[in-house]
Amino acid sequence: MKKASLPAGRRGIALLRDPLYNKGTAFTQRERDRLGLRGLLPAHVHTQQEQMQRSLAHLRGLPSPLEKFIDLNALHDRNEALFFRVVGEHPDEIMPLIYTPTVGLACQEFGNIFQRPRGLFIGANDRGRIARVLGNWPHRDIGIIVVTDGERILGLGDLGANGMGIPVGKLSLYTGCAGVHPRRCLPVVLDVGTDNEALRKDPFYIGLRQKRLRGARYDALVEEFVMAVQKVFPGALIQFEDFANTNAFRLLQRYRERICTFNDDIQGTASVVLAGLMSALRVTGGALGEQRILCLGAGEAATGICDLVVAALAEDGLAASEARRRCWLFDSRGLVVAGRADLAGHKRPYAHEHAGVADFAAAVEALKPTAIIGVAAVGGTFTQAVVEAMARHHPRPIVFALSNPTSKSECTAEQAYRWSGGRALFACGSPFDPVTLEGRVFVPRQGNNSYIFPGVGLGVIASRARHVTDEMFLAAARALARQTTKADLEQGSLYPALARIRPVSAHIAAAVAGVAYARRLTARRKPANVLAYIRSQMYEPAYPRYA
Ligand code: NAD
Repeated sequence: MKKASLPAGRRGIALLRDPLYNKGTAFTQRERDRLGLRGLLPAHVHTQQEQMQRSLAHLRGLPSPLEKFIDLNALHDRNEALFFRVVGEHPDEIMPLIYTPTVGLACQEFGNIFQRPRGLFIGANDRGRIARVLGNWPHRDIGIIVVTDGERILGLGDLGANGMGIPVGKLSLYTGCAGVHPRRCLPVVLDVGTDNEALRKDPFYIGLRQKRLRGARYDALVEEFVMAVQKVFPGALIQFEDFANTNAFRLLQRYRERICTFNDDIQGTASVVLAGLMSALRVTGGALGEQRILCLGAGEAATGICDLVVAALAEDGLAASEARRRCWLFDSRGLVVAGRADLAGHKRPYAHEHAGVADFAAAVEALKPTAIIGVAAVGGTFTQAVVEAMARHHPRPIVFALSNPTSKSECTAEQAYRWSGGRALFACGSPFDPVTLEGRVFVPRQGNNSYIFPGVGLGVIASRARHVTDEMFLAAARALARQTTKADLEQGSLYPALARIRPVSAHIAAAVAGVAYARRLTARRKPANVLAYIRSQMYEPAYPRYA
């Protein structure tokens, strides 16, 4: 057991109520004597292993995912080490409860299940005092801030301040998947109001009951927040999360060269999808430059994916104009083609010369894509006709149904395998159980950003990188793809098992830090062994012995 010291004043009841240091019934007899805990705890001393078994037994007895979410939240609030031990040792079971898909439901119910605040709520009315608000946070050594304004929560739309569930969940994954110390994580909601009228009328809604700030006043609030972070938590990485795409693209462009920031919906998604494509190509034997990729959806995820594919092809020596021709978008008005007058800036690079096509199945017939990627948040859009057409055109069609939560999934894993006669190379945005088809078992895995962003964040803060670059996301995608084994591919899995997420994240972090050192994005010297250095920076949820 490692030795650790406690901050001044952390003893007795204050210690039991501090989730960062609390060990509950695992405090030893000696600690109980020395730390004024005698009598405040029942007699028996449990091991952390026993506490974990007890927590899991209770959790498994709860009737619904939402109740399990509430229970895990309460554990998180009581005892961080135990919470992260549970997450780390049972990621397949716990991640869907603390993140997608359950977190979507939790955000929808946030006002009803709210118990204890976690993170900072910065309101439209905090203009002029945001640095002071940040100063109210109890820790200074912040490494990563995940911030949302709640306007596009998963595929669920505007949930206002209820969107806080997302930064909290994402930061839990930073710790659970990549060992970023929980003390270094700060969840933030920019509460600029909500245009969701039902929420504004809901008596239990926790946020500002006003329409969303827009335009210059919105931009000024974000700018003040970003600048206040530079002052109060210098060097902290700001991850923008679940902003509506009009703001997401603008804010990324505005801040990516100025501060240490990235947008996970755009860049993290792109990286995890590119890794999945790389794994799929190990099966088909094709090259990325030979693919025709058709995205259903033309928002943050879709254009982020296309931009990173283009960046990857540029490294292979393909001109950007040529590389873009490998990528096609299909939005709510049909195939994105040149000549459409209604196209937002982020779609235009992918508007190729082609006749308009209004129906997705018809677009699949016309383009014969080697890969279809669903990121439109419209459930059921990969119909039997679509998947059958993909299987007719290609021996191993790539089918990624990535929309979240599960209700928005373009097709289920079972449908993708059955309709393609077991030939689809499939990845999903929500968890699906293994599928048995004609005696073969397929194990679909989530093309979930949680494979990427925790490792990227760890690599950035461990190397003290000043910026997060596209090259880092490319390096992350390659590192992730390398972690997918032959055995994974043989059972249809395009990503490594979640049980290996900590070592996988360490490799991703090392690749990202490697870019930071190579490109001189940090004042730090490159350690002799980057991977060993990264591992040394990872938080372990085992209890220390308090000296
Ligand atoms: P977004 O709002 O930026 O984009 C949505 C896009 O879908 C828009 O271009 C819109 O025109 C298009 N669209 C809407 N209705 C459509 C229809 N009927 N037909 C075709 N296109 C339609 O959102 P986003 O950030 O790109 O996310 C989209 C979805 O992808 C969400 O469900 C999100 O949860 C999911 N997503 C999953 C992952 C993952 O699993 N790795 C990562 C990112 C996003």
